[in-house]
Amino acid sequence: MDIILLGPPGAGKGTQAGLLENKFGMVQLSTGDMLRAAVKAGTEVGLKAKALMDAGELVPDEVVSGIIGDKLDELGSDQGVIFDGYPRTATQAVSLDEILAERGRKLDHVIELVVDEDALVVRITGRFTCGNCGEGYHDTFKQPAKADVCDVCGSSDFKRRPDDNEETVRTRMTEYRAKTQPILPIYEERGIVTKIDGMGSMDDVSQAIEAVLAQN
Ligand code: ADP
Ligand code: ADP
Ligand code: ZN
Repeated sequence: MDIILLGPPGAGKGTQAGLLENKFGMVQLSTGDMLRAAVKAGTEVGLKAKALMDAGELVPDEVVSGIIGDKLDELGSDQGVIFDGYPRTATQAVSLDEILAERGRKLDHVIELVVDEDALVVRITGRFTCGNCGEGYHDTFKQPAKADVCDVCGSSDFKRRPDDNEETVRTRMTEYRAKTQPILPIYEERGIVTKIDGMGSMDDVSQAIEAVLAQN
């Protein structure tokens, strides 16, 4: 099964993708994570992406579609994937259709996490992750059981993203409204969109997503 998790920055896409990976063995394909890895490695893609990411602006379509195609080629054809943060523009949505068709895949569900914008700034500015294993946390909503120690791997190397500040978040939200939300009708016409209330607890949201996946 291949699905898209759609929602503005901080909606909970990464959190829910991680839960689906653990529970169902799906693979999360996050273009944000891939771009951050490219920036860290200093690759050509990373060099192109860094300033745009720091400003909260979108990286060119052909760059992200290229890395998504490459990643899919590393996976088995029966490996279910969760697209997290991709597609983000109409051009990317068209590319994704081509990328999937070329590989004999199809989209089963597009799940939109519907959230209250004011809550997003709180979610984003409190977000941090384990630098070792990538587990996500929040200053208020998901603290490690033992202060400063990752629940999953025991590391104390926590990280915050440079773009997780209030000013950049506002730009990212504007980009979402202007370029990403308008792609929903493409999928609505196909009857594969489900809107889920993203303001509930992480457990509530994950149960709602599982109910959608259980439909087929
Ligand atoms: P969030 O999960 O908070 O919405 P991401 O990690 O998905 O943020 O993305 C961080 C940044 O990476 C974006 O602001 C943008 O600059 C870039 N980016 C990630 N995915 C895409 C994409 N599909 N198209 C263009 N830019 C992207
Ligand atoms: P996205 O990938 O959509 O940008 P994340 O999954 O990284 O969003 O979540 C953003 C922040 O909000 C993280 O710190 C995460 O721990 C927290 N968070 C995620 N889902 C919820 C939720 N349902 N309730 C409260 N906080 C949440
Ligand atoms: Zn960890």
